[in-house]
This record gives sequence, structure tokens and C-alpha cells, in this order.
Amino acid sequence: MMAAARMPALFIGHGSPMNTLERNGFTDAWRSLGRTLPRPRALLVVSAHWYFGATAVTAMSRPRTIHDFYGFPQALFDFDYPAPGAPDVAQEIAELVKPEWIGLDRDQWGLDHGTWSVLAHLYPQADVPVVQLSINALRPLEYHVDLAARLAALRDSGVAILASGNVVHNLRAVQWNQPNAAFDWAERFDDAVISQLADAPGDILKVREHPDYARAVPTPDHFVPLLYLAGLAAAEDARPEPIVRGYSMGAISMTCHALGANLPVDTDAEDAATLPRDVPADQTNI
Ligand code: ZN
Repeated sequence: MMAAARMPALFIGHGSPMNTLERNGFTDAWRSLGRTLPRPRALLVVSAHWYFGATAVTAMSRPRTIHDFYGFPQALFDFDYPAPGAPDVAQEIAELVKPEWIGLDRDQWGLDHGTWSVLAHLYPQADVPVVQLSINALRPLEYHVDLAARLAALRDSGVAILASGNVVHNLRAVQWNQPNAAFDWAERFDDAVISQLADAPGDILKVREHPDYARAVPTPDHFVPLLYLAGLAAAEDARPEPIVRGYSMGAISMTCHALGANLPVDTDAEDAATLPRDVPADQTNI
């Protein structure tokens, strides 16, 4: 019997939730990528937007679509991503990471926009079961690199892994009127991450020494998902590839990285999604 193919692992820079409904260079790239992806048994998603004081996985058979942001059009609040859950996969994950503890969430969370704004394009049919993993805000960054390595075996049992965040994510520095611009410091930090992933993904936390780290990563929530891709890469001594590059409103990197997947199109995406103008970016929870 042939061994099952190893499933891909992705880090997607998700940006504005409006990417769910809009068509732009980034969403076109995600759709192209989606057409090349295998159909996994399930998807494990690490989203920047489930950031709280415990490690948990969603374990309900019907996860709800959570609209966890403010000030966006009604159409976005009406969006539904009805993918089934996978309680059996959640249980497998809890076993796999022992002696680390993961709680099984049967009724609290669901799928937040870090997950569905991307899956709406990668798997638009919403027919692949999805399990979300929380980011434990109480643990040091090293914990996330290590936990990712424990999850690596899932990829050999038909589970693809999606980490959804943004390498650079500084909402206070966002420039409303420059949708495709990038600050110099944002580009420098994004480049440093690409170099570190190419050299030694297991040492990804060295980028904390970069002079632009504090501006690029003022809070850890959108950065931590990247640590999962780095930890998965280190576990198999592989090097992730940058598959989409681009910036949104100066201070958000839309760059995406992949293990075991390739995007056969132009990777310089443009035309970033818009933000609502009546809510300050740092109060939108994007
Ligand atoms: Zn976000």
C-alpha cells in the first residue's frame, strides 16, 4: 500500500476581512493556490484571532461562523462558512501533543475570520472539515514553535495545516489612503523573515533581534501563526517558500509562505482589500 502523501502546510497573510468578499491580487493568488491543493481529510487552522489564555481545539461537529470585528459592511456579517468540524481529529490532536495539554472546545469558539476569510478562497465549497487551534497567549513564543513540531505528524495522516496571521501587523501605523504601500521597515522585517525561514526555520525567533521587530510585531497575535509554519518546517528539516508577496496600507504584510505547496503564478500581488473608514484600524480587530 502506498503511504499517504504528506499534506501541505501554509502561512497566509490574511489582512482585511473584506478579502472574503473582494477580488484582488491576494485573493486571486489564494484561489490559484487553492486549485493546486489536495483535498485533505481535515484542515487544522491556527488563526491570529483566537488568542486567549489556553490551548484549545474546536471539537464541535458544526462550528459556527464567528464575525469577530467591527465596522464592516452587513454583507460581511452575513457571510457564512458552513464547513463541518472534525471532533475525531480534535481528539487525535489532543493525544498527539501529550504531555502538553490541549482542551477540547465543544461549545465556545467556532471559525473566526482569520480562518474563513482565507478558506473562502482556498476551499470555497466549505466541504473539508475544519478544526481551529487557539493561540495560548500565556505561553512564551518558544512554546508555539515546539507545539508545531508535535503537530507535524498530522500532515502524514491526511491533515493539512493553515496558519493565518500577518508577518507585519501594526494597525496604529496603517495608512488608509495607500492600499498597496509598504513602509521601509515593514519590507525590511518581511525580508528578514524570508531569510530566516530559508536559513533555519527552527531559529525563527532570532528575528526578535531585528531592529524593526518592535514596529512590525507590536503585539504577538498575528505573528505567532508564522511560528507554527516555522516549527513544522524545522520538524522535517524543510524550508518554507514564500509564495505570495505584498503589503497592505503600509504596515501589514500580506506575504504567504508554504511547505509542500507551490503557486505557479506571479507572486507579486497588488490591489489590497479595503478597510471601513468610519472605524479606526486599531479598533476593527482585524
Ligand atoms: Zn487579522
